[in-house]
Amino acid sequence: MPELPDVEGFRRVLAKHAVGAPIRRVLVRDAGVLRGTTARRLADVLRGRLFRKPSRHGKWLIAPTDRSAVLLFHFGMTGSLEWERHGAPQRHDRVIFAFDRGELRYRDLRKLQGLRLARDDAEVGAILRALGPDALDVSPRTFDERIAGRARLKAILMDQSVIAGLGNLLVDEILWRARINPARPANRLSGPERAAVFREMRRVLRDSIRVGRVPPRGVWLTGRRDDASAKCPRCATRLRRGTIAGRTTVWCPRCQPTRRGRSA
Ligand SMILES: [Zn+2]
Repeated sequence: MPELPDVEGFRRVLAKHAVGAPIRRVLVRDAGVLRGTTARRLADVLRGRLFRKPSRHGKWLIAPTDRSAVLLFHFGMTGSLEWERHGAPQRHDRVIFAFDRGELRYRDLRKLQGLRLARDDAEVGAILRALGPDALDVSPRTFDERIAGRARLKAILMDQSVIAGLGNLLVDEILWRARINPARPANRLSGPERAAVFREMRRVLRDSIRVGRVPPRGVWLTGRRDDASAKCPRCATRLRRGTIAGRTTVWCPRCQPTRRGRSA
């Protein structure tokens, strides 16, 4: 599932290959990924236009053009943005932007989200209004204030209106590093525990952005969580698995006790 580091990777793909070159053609192969626009309107507005430097907020990629129109991408559970030399499209290439040197392809299997076309910055603001601050930009103080709710910590961190950009793998990895149980109520964390979550969030994001995803390294929870009898990379205790916030959650019962000083 694309999370902040993946979307940052897609932003770099767009920035590297598709900025400043005229869009020759917009081919919508499946209009099921268009949200609030049509294939015809998308092509009419974007043909001949240039993308300007893209930005990202949480899991959204924001691609302004040299007119006021702004294209927004969301990658749902299975989406990606690929740069390809011209050639046969792949099965799940839903929208293709053709340039002289190649093609930018929005590829998505499940089509849970997709592309939106905003008329101007005000419309972009309206689309993104419900999002909390970006996980990479948020200050420690704002982070502290925003995660003070009563819900389970994992649910709070996954909530895009609280902090934008974190998904299932990231949150499990961050909480494992911070040694905090994902089911604990967020408002019961001590100051040092909140500081540990913030610090590990920054570290995990920084390392993941470098490679464009949460890397499945053996010393990371992410690298072990899908093993047959998965063990904690730190203490070799058998990892626990359960559902929190509707998502498969993995944690170490020894490193991440349900209460301070107690094992889960
Ligand atoms: Zn452990």
